[in-house]
Amino acid sequence: MMVYADNAATTCVSKTALDAMLPYLTTCYGNPSSLYSFAQEAKEALEEARETVAKLIGAASAREIYFTSGGSEADNQAICSAAWSGAKKGKKHLISTKFEHHAVLHTLDKLKKEGFEVTLLDVHEDGVVRVEDVAAAIREDTALVTVMFANNEIGTVQPIREIGALCREKGIPFHTDAVQAIGHMPVHVQEMNIDMLSLSGHKFHAPKGVGVLYARRGMLLSNIIEGGAQERGKRGGTENIPGIVALAAALKESVEHMEENTAKIIPMRDKLFAELSKIPHSKINGSLEHHVPGTVNMCFEGIEGESLLLLLDAHGVCASSGSACTSGSLDPSHVLLALGLPHEIAHGSLRLSLGEYNTMEEVDHIIEVVPKVVSYLRNMSPIWEDLETGKKPHLI
Ligand SMILES: *Cc1c(COP(=O)(O)O)cnc(C)c1O
Repeated sequence: MMVYADNAATTCVSKTALDAMLPYLTTCYGNPSSLYSFAQEAKEALEEARETVAKLIGAASAREIYFTSGGSEADNQAICSAAWSGAKKGKKHLISTKFEHHAVLHTLDKLKKEGFEVTLLDVHEDGVVRVEDVAAAIREDTALVTVMFANNEIGTVQPIREIGALCREKGIPFHTDAVQAIGHMPVHVQEMNIDMLSLSGHKFHAPKGVGVLYARRGMLLSNIIEGGAQERGKRGGTENIPGIVALAAALKESVEHMEENTAKIIPMRDKLFAELSKIPHSKINGSLEHHVPGTVNMCFEGIEGESLLLLLDAHGVCASSGSACTSGSLDPSHVLLALGLPHEIAHGSLRLSLGEYNTMEEVDHIIEVVPKVVSYLRNMSPIWEDLETGKKPHLI
């Protein structure tokens, strides 16, 4: 049995998305910038996709939707644009949080080298950023607040509407990386006071390599990629029409089926939490109250996340220890450290992220395998022996 439980890393392309994109790979392959009528079909598909995405995220106009190569590019462009346009007015302070995706954190690092000052807010133990903390960090020279909608490792959801309202009141641009929220929970940019938002197709059953930057009318965008006049001059490069068409179709499908998907995923997630919590010296990471449906993140004391993943793989379970981008490095997750977990505990983390294609049988397989693998690793571990013989105190 192969169980794919890493939907926060990427998802399969849905049949709907695949069917929608195929004609743009085979018969309708024109370049939307060309003038002949054959290419106009591609142009029309592009603009229809833009309309669809605008409606689905509650944008006022399709002109506010810019297609990118993915979530990372959208994050880069949103953050650099706000920073650079702030700098022109003497505003060189940026606010974000410690548990953002690296697409955000590394962009902020780059801007620091350009002379920007960055405040990274602490995340509370429940994995939720407090509006008061954002308010306290705001200064006269703040050019941008960027706070992710839902965290990719622990699944906690942030008070986006309230942070947006605060920024609106103070006249500060507000960006949110909504990659993990879009298609999984209601997102409405106007109602939630969002000025800029990033999303990525491959997290909701569109192909990899396509995403969206929403930028409210009046937001000044700077180019990250120079080239032709595509995307209203803000993003050079021939548009990825098949990907864009698939993204719109997949987003529509996810939004339209959100309630039934959630109703299917929640019982599976809750069963995982309930059963895996029975493992002694384990801990659930992040508040369950403010949470996307599919993500389960737990720590098991005395084991090492990488070994756990390898053994799970051997038992047919695809999981992650945090974000796919940091796996391969031995550093514990920056997200779990931001929650205040000690290094030893953060090392033993497991993220299982479920989607609507998962089944209860698969969940049962995970529940059978994880406790066995955890005991096996603990029995081999000198650290565990120290904990069990009382040489070292248990931390959880
Ligand atoms: C996956 C992810 C990204 C990156 O999106 P890509 O399309 O893979 O570049 C950014 N932010 C979050 C929260 C993500 O989960």
